Amino acid sequence: MSLDSSRSPFPEKKPSELTEEESQQYFEATAVHYATPSLIDESKTKLVSNYQYRLVCQNCGFISYFRAANVVYWVEDRMNVHEDES
Ligand SMILES: [Zn+2]
Repeated sequence: MSLDSSRSPFPEKKPSELTEEESQQYFEATAVHYATPSLIDESKTKLVSNYQYRLVCQNCGFISYFRAANVVYWVEDRMNVHEDES
């Protein structure tokens, strides 16, 4: 998760100048949620092959899971292609 300050409901104020209540509103408006990995099997070792990403559709609530290993392989492939180009 990270905060996107361009979505601030108080664009004229710096985050450090907000009241406690405004800070809460700022946090709710600017929070960007990324998929966080979770263990597929809690009883097994914490290898990349034992992780998954859970994504929830904001429209219908459908939940899909992706094996983290496949995402890592995909990123590695893309990085390798990039290295070949240079
Ligand atoms: Zn959906």
